[in-house]
Amino acid sequence: MLDLQSVSAWYGSTQVLFDIDLTVPAGQKLAIAGTNGAGKTTLLRSVLGLVKSRGEIHWEGRRIDATPCHRRVRDGGIAVVHEGRGLITALSVLDNLTLGVEPAALRRLDDVFDAFPVLAERRDQPVTNLSGGEQQMVALGRTMLRPARLLVIDEPSLGLAPSIVAQLYATIARMSAAAETTVLLVEQELRLACEIADRVVVLRAGHLVRDYSGSEVNFDIIVDAATGG
Ligand code: ATP
Repeated sequence: MLDLQSVSAWYGSTQVLFDIDLTVPAGQKLAIAGTNGAGKTTLLRSVLGLVKSRGEIHWEGRRIDATPCHRRVRDGGIAVVHEGRGLITALSVLDNLTLGVEPAALRRLDDVFDAFPVLAERRDQPVTNLSGGEQQMVALGRTMLRPARLLVIDEPSLGLAPSIVAQLYATIARMSAAAETTVLLVEQELRLACEIADRVVVLRAGHLVRDYSGSEVNFDIIVDAATGG
C-alpha cells in the first residue's frame, strides 16, 4: 500500500501541491488526471523524492518521505518509466536492457523483444540513435526485466505515434496485470488512462478534487472534471 498524508510540494518558494491525502492499495492501477500544470508530475516526483515536499509518505508500511530517491527506488521495488529516465544513451540498447539484471531474469529478454521487435533490430545501436518512443520502449523493457512492486509512469504517450502508444500500453497492461504491481500513471490521454486504470484521481491547481473508481472509471464521466470543466 502507498499512503500519502497531507503531502504538499514546492519549487523554490512556490507551492504546487496542497495537502494531498491519498491511499493506494497494493495492486491498484491509479491514473492521475488534470489539466496542464495541475501538479500531476509533481505528485509522482513527491513519491520518488525528487521535489521538496512535506507530509508523510508510506510505502509497504515504511515511512519513506525522508529517504533519498535512489534508496526509495532500490529498497522499495519501485520502477520509473519516463522518457530517457535511467538510460545511458552512449551504451547500446542491449546493454541498457541488461545492465545489472540478475542472470535468471535474462531469459525474459525474449519477452521484451517480442513486445518491441524494433528493439531486437536495433539491439547493438547506442540508445542515443533511438527516437523518443523507442527510448520509452527501452525504459519499459528495463522494467520488464526487473519486476517492480510499484510502477511510476509519466506520460508514456507524449509525442508518440498511435501505433507505438498501443504497443506501450499493451505492455504496461501485461506487466501490471502479471504481478501484484501497484501503478501510478500520469497520462494526458484520458481515454488511455481509463483503459488501464481501476481508479482515477483528478488534480486541479495542486488540490486533489475528484476520486473515481469502479464503474466511474469511464471517459464520459470523468472528462469534464479532468479537463477543468
Ligand atoms: P503537465 O500536464 O503540463 O505536465 P502537470 O500536471 O504534470 O502538468 P507539474 O509538472 O507537476 O504539472 O507542474 C505543477 C506546477 O509546478 C506548474 O505550475 C509548473 O509550472 C510548476 N513547475 C513544474 N516543474 C517546475 C520546476 N522545475 N520549477 C519551477 N516550477 C515548476
